[in-house]
Amino acid sequence: MKTTGVIRKLDELGRIVIPIEQRRTLDINLHDPVEISIEDGKIVIKKYHTSCVFCGNVQNVMTFRDKLICKKCLNELIKNESK
Ligand SMILES: [Zn+2]
Repeated sequence: MKTTGVIRKLDELGRIVIPIEQRRTLDINLHDPVEISIEDGKIVIKKYHTSCVFCGNVQNVMTFRDKLICKKCLNELIKNESK
């Protein structure tokens, strides 16, 4: 993974601007929801997905290893696995 080490200062409300190049790299657009968490003493900002990563379906979606997958895609995966 490439890290660019951009230095930014927080403003008086604790906000920062995420550099445009990094947003483009991760396909994070204006008004997209992001998830902020702390991992190993670091603040991690991730694009927040509310739909299946494979088909974009928003119903019957569950999380597996930090990714969202819908029941239909999960069943197709299981079917392919048993071939
Ligand atoms: Zn799906």
